[in-house]
Amino acid sequence: MASEKLQLRARLIVPALIRLAILGAIALGLGLMFGATAGLWFAVLVLALLLVVYLGYLSLLGVWLDDPRLDTVPDGYGAWAEIFTRLYKSRRATVVSERKLLDNEERFRRTISALPEGILLVDAALQIEWCNPEAERHLGISLKADQGLRLTNLVRDPTFVAYMTSGRFVEPLVFRPLARPAFVLSVAVIEFEPARSIVITHDVTQAERVDAMRRDFVANVSHELRTPLTVVNGFLETLLDSDMPLDDVRRRHLHLMHEQAGRMNHLIEDLLMLSRLESQESALLEEDVDMGHLLSEVVDDARALSAGRHALLADAQPARVRGNREELRSAIGNLVSNAIRYTPAGGSIRLTWRLVDDGAEVGVHDTGIGVAPEHIPRLTERFYRVDKSRSRETGGTGLGLAIVKHVMLRHQGRLDIESVPGAGSTFSLWLPRARVVAEAVSRKAA
Ligand code: ADP
Repeated sequence: MASEKLQLRARLIVPALIRLAILGAIALGLGLMFGATAGLWFAVLVLALLLVVYLGYLSLLGVWLDDPRLDTVPDGYGAWAEIFTRLYKSRRATVVSERKLLDNEERFRRTISALPEGILLVDAALQIEWCNPEAERHLGISLKADQGLRLTNLVRDPTFVAYMTSGRFVEPLVFRPLARPAFVLSVAVIEFEPARSIVITHDVTQAERVDAMRRDFVANVSHELRTPLTVVNGFLETLLDSDMPLDDVRRRHLHLMHEQAGRMNHLIEDLLMLSRLESQESALLEEDVDMGHLLSEVVDDARALSAGRHALLADAQPARVRGNREELRSAIGNLVSNAIRYTPAGGSIRLTWRLVDDGAEVGVHDTGIGVAPEHIPRLTERFYRVDKSRSRETGGTGLGLAIVKHVMLRHQGRLDIESVPGAGSTFSLWLPRARVVAEAVSRKAA
């Protein structure tokens, strides 16, 4: 490398030095023939001429550098010819790589534009850097007109704005844009650089329609089954309570039938509750909920369910939240009932309610059988059970945690699960700060 550089320098300088030496020799010859003054004049004139030529080339170079195009690289003589040839080569290499880069970018954009998903590039302030035509269609924006504008100023749906500014993108948002209510959109955000994110939009109208049909079907079937089951249950209770003489076998059969009918009833109630929670139409009826009071009611129910087999403790801060009391009670009740059912006799169950930095949290801690990590992400799926027979034996429907998850979704909260197999679990319900009644927040700050 170093020797190459030396060679190049020699190629540029040596011919110029030779030319200077020849001129020097001519000047010396003239000096000897016509006197020193003539030799000196000749040398001065030739050097001045060379200076003018060099200045000319320098100005050519300066002008070209101002607009360095491949077709206008100047021609030169001697060392300048070598310099201009090198400039030409380096410029050509730059032009070729720029063209390749542009081609690649163009191909990349064309590929992204052809995707069935909408893709948007946004910066940290949610300003649109680029988007494909599908994203324009989904969000009703235009790249030409809206580039550089804040996405949340253009799509003003409160759910969308809350999601985009929440900074929590674990689950995609599914919403109906206010401008086009017949259209259902799923939005996911991938933060791929500290100051940039990709927003992916997907038209899920058809999938949502199928899901709604499934929900309606389940709700209708559950509803239709409820009446006959109530009748069967009623007759079974009458039979069991009556003085009619029954032998032991018949009485046991009747008890079993009553028990199973009770389970079916429980299952139908849970299915109906889940359909109601999932339904877009059933708006969340909100009130101020005194969580300390609610927790003490849940603990009373839990005492009856545990029948003295577990130590039950509750530790609640005096804080109220905005939410639906019945739904919150059902969610916490489900967690506590699970804690009792999955904690062997002698274990303990602790309920906590406290304010945290970004909201408030109900914790249900148990010292039960725990859950292996691979099952945790699936626990909120309908009918997902780690141990089917244990769930059934203890009267589980397999829908409890699905109900909890939906109640939390309706309250813009979430369910967090931590568990160590054999040591116990903590199921926490987090509610956002906006749901905590102001008085409680200021008390925490004070
Ligand atoms: P189930 O009616 O079967 O309890 P859930 O939806 O309430 O249905 O819970 C789903 C599964 O999660 C349960 O079957 C059980 O395997 C597991 N699970 C829930 N709570 C606990 C807990 N406190 N300890 C251990 N496992 C639990």
